[in-house]
Amino acid sequence: MNDHLSEESWAAAVLDPSDPAVAEHLQGCAECRAEVSSFTEAINAARAVTLRAAERPESFWRAQRLAITERTVNRTFPSPWKRLAWVAATVILVVLSTTVVSRRNTPSLRTRTTRVETDDALLLSVQQSIQSDLPQALEPAELLTEEINRAAVSRKSR
Ligand SMILES: [Zn+2]
Repeated sequence: MNDHLSEESWAAAVLDPSDPAVAEHLQGCAECRAEVSSFTEAINAARAVTLRAAERPESFWRAQRLAITERTVNRTFPSPWKRLAWVAATVILVVLSTTVVSRRNTPSLRTRTTRVETDDALLLSVQQSIQSDLPQALEPAELLTEEINRAAVSRKSR
């Protein structure tokens, strides 16, 4: 017998052995029948295992959870002070980075205000130096006050 099940019909036979064309060949061919049945048996066994796993009682899963928790508890973690040190280091790093970032963000404002302050101070010092160092500049004002005083005196004397 040369025309056994083709690969497609073989797959169809595994998935649905009641397919008419497949069933006809399987009836006449013991070789294909055995092969298909062994394959479907394997599939059924795997399905049964999966189903059994899914249908395991809650107690089984509780035991599994317990075993996992025990294993994680018994695992050797770094000593608590080491972990604490890591946490502290991380916190310090985060704080430092945020302060650096906030500092890096504010300087434009800060330098602007300091520049304003220095500008004000400069203006003030310039004004002071004008008032103190340049009496010549004040001469007109002095003349004016003298004039006013003289006028007042002459008005009084009149
Ligand atoms: Zn066959």
